[in-house]
Amino acid sequence: LVLGGGIAGMTAALNISRQGFPVTVVEKQPQLGGMARSLHHTIEGADVRAFITSLIEDVTNDEKIDILTEAEVVDFDGFQGNFTTELALGAGREPRVIDHGVIVVATGANEYRPKEFLYGEDLRVMTQVELGDRLHDEGAADLSTVTMIQCVGSRNEENQNCSRICCQNAVKNALDIKKLNPETQVFVLYRDMRTYGLLEDYYTAARKQGVIFIRFDQAHPPRVEAGDDGLQVFVKDHVLQQEIAIASDLVVLSAGVAAADTENVSRIMKLNRNPEGFFIEAHVKLRPVDMGSEAIFLCGTAHGPKLISEAVAQAQAAASRAITFLSKDSIKLSAIKAQVDVENCVKCLTCV
Ligand code: SF4
Repeated sequence: LVLGGGIAGMTAALNISRQGFPVTVVEKQPQLGGMARSLHHTIEGADVRAFITSLIEDVTNDEKIDILTEAEVVDFDGFQGNFTTELALGAGREPRVIDHGVIVVATGANEYRPKEFLYGEDLRVMTQVELGDRLHDEGAADLSTVTMIQCVGSRNEENQNCSRICCQNAVKNALDIKKLNPETQVFVLYRDMRTYGLLEDYYTAARKQGVIFIRFDQAHPPRVEAGDDGLQVFVKDHVLQQEIAIASDLVVLSAGVAAADTENVSRIMKLNRNPEGFFIEAHVKLRPVDMGSEAIFLCGTAHGPKLISEAVAQAQAAASRAITFLSKDSIKLSAIKAQVDVENCVKCLTCV
């Protein structure tokens, strides 16, 4: 059973079915594709839409894969190799029971909806994903200045984690703007640029092409004011030690990655999540795609923010782990039962 029909879920499903095992994919939304449906291309230039279309085609045409959309888990029972999950399908909540040996959790994540910097009040303030759409549909010929603000909804009191992918998203869009219209001025207001690994090359390329990176500290965040002739962004430059104002056509927020609403599924299936709502692996180094319970595996952004390439790699790892388990003819189950030793009992009720 694969929970989630995004890139990670579909990749895991295909990998498992191609090794000869039937798979059921359970997707909450009416269509497959997940968060990646709102992306156009990766920073390396790969076509995300074409990739999703071919993945959807492959899973739909695969006879071993059963796809259930608008489906939700309502009940769950069993143990490794012998799980039973009850689903409610469609608006009529038609019941369906699936017997399965393993679970791959790939429920995905969402882009954070900002509450700050006039987002939702002024249409000239948008997220990086929305800017990607705007550049794809309208280009950048009419833009003279674009200002980006990093770490929106991340690395603050509410969400202390770094969302990992928004820095490269900002650099990707900044490079796209420069490609579409080299005259457009792009400012990126950042706390730290975290274009990790080889993504650093794109950060260097953006600087070479004239994108201006201005560092601010958390204690002095930028301010955005709306006027009839554009938006004004105020930021304290840490080198000049004074506030500067940037007149901008667009203000683009690098909104973080927010966990999907998995409250129900985590309660019903007893799957552990961290305080931010992402599912947790059994051991970060020794069992990175296993979950705490046996025969339950994890991949994609359900586990935390990650790039498409990372989600695909993790989905392949989860599928491998699932197949190692499914390929056994029989498994030994632990027969450990709790027994009360009256002398030592401290009434902790763990045995219950
Ligand atoms: Fe901030 Fe960059 Fe981390 Fe996103 S990836 S939270 S913008 S440091």
